[in-house]
Amino acid sequence: MAIGEFDLIATYFTHRYPQRDDVDIGVGDDGAVLKIPPNSELVVVTDTMVEGVHFDQQTPARAIGHKIVAVNLSDLAAMGAEPAWISLALTLPTVDHDWLTGFTHGLREICDYYQCQLVGGDTTRGPLTITVTAHGLVPTGKALRRNGAKPGDWIYVSGTLGDAGLALAASQQQHKLSPDYQRRLNERLFFPSPRVALGQSLRGIASSAIDVSDGLLADLGHILSASQVGARIDVDELPLSLALTESLSETDAYKYALTSGDDYELLFTVPEAQRGLFDTVIAHAAHKPVCIGRVTNEVEVVQLLYAGEPWSMPTDVALGFDHFKKPTSETEPEL
Ligand code: ADP
Ligand code: MG
Repeated sequence: MAIGEFDLIATYFTHRYPQRDDVDIGVGDDGAVLKIPPNSELVVVTDTMVEGVHFDQQTPARAIGHKIVAVNLSDLAAMGAEPAWISLALTLPTVDHDWLTGFTHGLREICDYYQCQLVGGDTTRGPLTITVTAHGLVPTGKALRRNGAKPGDWIYVSGTLGDAGLALAASQQQHKLSPDYQRRLNERLFFPSPRVALGQSLRGIASSAIDVSDGLLADLGHILSASQVGARIDVDELPLSLALTESLSETDAYKYALTSGDDYELLFTVPEAQRGLFDTVIAHAAHKPVCIGRVTNEVEVVQLLYAGEPWSMPTDVALGFDHFKKPTSETEPEL
């Protein structure tokens, strides 16, 4: 490396991040020392992005800096937590100042936006890999979980579904998009918006919650197994962007909405008794959640309906992304 590890940390990771009053010691010592307010619990989440797996060489460095924080804050949102601090483990093949400038620009923008402070990390040489651990705060006992859905609860999802998946498929030449739609969908793939305020507003209202990172059906499956319930989903109620519906057949649009990953929307259940309060709370929400179905008592069974009639997914679809799932045609796991 042309500059040393310590110069690199001093140049890119020490200054110009938001400074919070609850940080006693941040970057620069052997560990960070952080104050947790009374009657609060700490929520800790970690996500990794690896070049060649989660992004390719064409991905702008600023997008990588944004996204590694966004995906972590999305997990905090799904727990109903307020983001506070992040730490960053960065493995770099070389010291590329243009890349680091772009990366820290993206990182700093999203940290500023959510007033989240970078409090430490580790910097090593190796294949490009970025890991962020985010720490959030939640009032004691109020974290949202996957396991509280009950038959009869209403199922909601925020924003729109399938956009990031379509952007990725188009970049791999599987679909042809107009330049305007490609640009709008790339924005969703590269700069996802974690639903931080929505997650916090669901505390005491939602009976279960998860963020949609692997595809709606895959992530719904996690709620269903944790809660030991089933679901009925009205596919014609799925929230779709104009860019998606104008670029695909109706069936393909539903396929993307149900199975493609990287949306980072919130999927959650609301009991009938909380619905009035919920409607009031989300009345002015920017990416208003829509009701897409209902929880049933048939454990882990998902019924898909279109205009009230049973609908089945075309069969050429893999349900969600799983890094360790065995491809059907090979014996080696797909890592
Ligand atoms: P140690 O050897 O004690 O583990 P390091 O030399 O790895 O410490 O790091 C020195 C300081 O810089 C520590 O406070 C660490 O948290 C911080 N740091 C290292 N890499 C990063 C990074 N990529 N982002 C933010 N802080 C970092
Ligand atoms: Mg040390």
